[in-house]
Amino acid sequence: MSKEIYLISACLLGINCRYNGTSSRILELERLIGSGRLIPICPEVLGGLDTPREPCEIITQTNGSLKVMSQRGLDCTSEFQNGAQKVLEMAKVYHVKKVILKANSPSCGSGHIYDGTFSRKLIEGDGLTSKLLLENDIEVYNETNWGSGEFI
Ligand code: SF4
Repeated sequence: MSKEIYLISACLLGINCRYNGTSSRILELERLIGSGRLIPICPEVLGGLDTPREPCEIITQTNGSLKVMSQRGLDCTSEFQNGAQKVLEMAKVYHVKKVILKANSPSCGSGHIYDGTFSRKLIEGDGLTSKLLLENDIEVYNETNWGSGEFI
């Protein structure tokens, strides 16, 4: 039987792909690399954004649609959507059922994201990539709750 493959936010494995050119390295997750079952992904880079890049947050429009805006007012929605689609395609290719994605990010966050005011205030919601994966019946965990997901 082939081993189950998981996607994981690349920044959690020490890859410097965050907006400010740093990582969010978690040693316990890095130790799982040896299993050969983790594929690191960064939706924002896959969507065509540079590193470093401007910080972005999700803003809900009055008609309920979502936009992803940078702090200086650049509309990055299409790049975020493209990245989410690419991650979903990859998940389908590898028959991924569970992922570990960085908490609170406008791409990778699950359950909580920043409120769109760039004031570090969290609200309920999912990043664009997490939302798309959840809509496709893929379980999304983050660096705080992955232990409950029985990975590896
Ligand atoms: S998009 Fe996801 S993987 Fe990329 S830096 Fe942000 S949180 Fe990490």
